[in-house]
Amino acid sequence: MQRRHFLQHTGALALGLALPYRVQARTTLGFGPARIDMLSDGHLVLPLDFLGAGVPPEELDPILARHGLTGDVYEPPCNLVLLREADRTVLFDIGAGPDFMPTTGQLSDALDALGVRVEDITHLIITHAHPDHLWGLLDDFDEPLLPRAEIFMGRAEWDYWMDPDTVETIGAARQSFAVGAQRRLTEIEDQVQLFEDGAEILPGVQAVSTPGHTPGHMAFALQAGGQGLMVVGDALANPHLAFERPEWEAASDHIPDMAAATRLQLLDRITAEERLILGFHLPGGGIGRAERQGKSRYIFTTEV
Ligand SMILES: [Zn+2]
Repeated sequence: MQRRHFLQHTGALALGLALPYRVQARTTLGFGPARIDMLSDGHLVLPLDFLGAGVPPEELDPILARHGLTGDVYEPPCNLVLLREADRTVLFDIGAGPDFMPTTGQLSDALDALGVRVEDITHLIITHAHPDHLWGLLDDFDEPLLPRAEIFMGRAEWDYWMDPDTVETIGAARQSFAVGAQRRLTEIEDQVQLFEDGAEILPGVQAVSTPGHTPGHMAFALQAGGQGLMVVGDALANPHLAFERPEWEAASDHIPDMAAATRLQLLDRITAEERLILGFHLPGGGIGRAERQGKSRYIFTTEV
């Protein structure tokens, strides 16, 4: 164990000082013949009590405090994964677009900064249909942003959001999510290919069913040579509670007990297979690892 590791995992954590993911951040990764860039779509602004609702404060507060979360608001980043290789430019999730929050919808700027044009994107792969991941399907003029790309979405997720009953059954708090998803998905219906758990969507990109956050949420296992990654979407939606107390149920999940079981299974797989994580709402650009700290206990670190 290197000295730096030792300090991070014992001293720093115990004292509640520097967090491992603040040590080093990266937004670009070589991946076999491909290159991966994490694009920022901005960040969400949420009330802090969005986190850990229902958890006793004496258990919750020390964890949040250690991660610097003591105010009223929680501002998680939104990171999109861009994978480029020879003849393919693949985007995972498309961000919030112009109509969700003033602090999101910055995909175009992020693409500009890399010199990538929207027309260059050949494939879009969607983890789930929440606004911050999906509403960017339509641009400022309500036109499809990617009219020529192939779009992939898990069948269960598609069926849930396209079901006319969902608007009625989803509950008042998420009703606008359902209306917004259905409107956008209807616009791109002709471009969509639906897939099941385990499907090889593109060479080296395999669907991993990770339900709970939404009914049909999908993660994606990426393989290039000996290297493995996992695009986790919102199956691991924050760097603190989701890793340190994965079994705690979260109000942000549609099916909280299922989402908790999914987190435990996914973290176990990611660490057993030594995969890097590409996380939508994870800090430092979203590239990192899960380190096992004990039974069902992990930390997220951007030290890769
Ligand atoms: Zn999200």
